[in-house]
Amino acid sequence: MRLVLVGPPGAGKGTQAQYIASNLSIPKISTGDIFRANVSGGTDLGKLAKTFMDRGDLVPDEVTIAMVRDRLSEDDAQDGFLLDGFPRNVPQAEILKKMLADWGQALDLVLELVVDDDEVVRRLAGRRTCSQCGRIWHVEFDDKQDDRCDACDGALFQRDDDKEETVRHRLEVYGEQTAPLISYYADEGILVGVDATGPVEEVTQRAMEAIRPFMG
Ligand SMILES: [Zn+2]
Repeated sequence: MRLVLVGPPGAGKGTQAQYIASNLSIPKISTGDIFRANVSGGTDLGKLAKTFMDRGDLVPDEVTIAMVRDRLSEDDAQDGFLLDGFPRNVPQAEILKKMLADWGQALDLVLELVVDDDEVVRRLAGRRTCSQCGRIWHVEFDDKQDDRCDACDGALFQRDDDKEETVRHRLEVYGEQTAPLISYYADEGILVGVDATGPVEEVTQRAMEAIRPFMG
């Protein structure tokens, strides 16, 4: 099963990526992991990427694509993989398609985690971080009434990233950037949406049910 997972910030994509990949016995390949592995492993691509990062510049697409190509050609990815964080846009999707076609492969499925914006805001804007131990509490899910940490009694605060305005802005940016990618894969006939609301295990179960018809 060759699978791409997409979803907005706050949809629990990282967690689902891990569970789905492990259920399917395929490697979870995230751009973040590939990146860190190349930089810490001191590969040529890692060194190249680092020159951009050290200058505070964005790593160019070609470097990211070359890293993805290297990772996808490793042995453990020959019978399938779950990609997380790539492709990010239509040009990258086209490059991925060509890359796989060169190897006689193709994507089986693009799974989109679908969560209502208000639900993401509810999840993220309710988070409170302990200023002392860093633990995260949720005003609603942990029924947190006061603003002290239950573990160490430190003062809780809301990170800027978790402020409603920031969350809504990130969702807007995500929507604008991802909409063309979503419609590209819808046109390819391999896009399936999964409701990502509710407990983690239920979302994984829904995802597995959505994947099943696409399995060889
Ligand atoms: Zn604490």
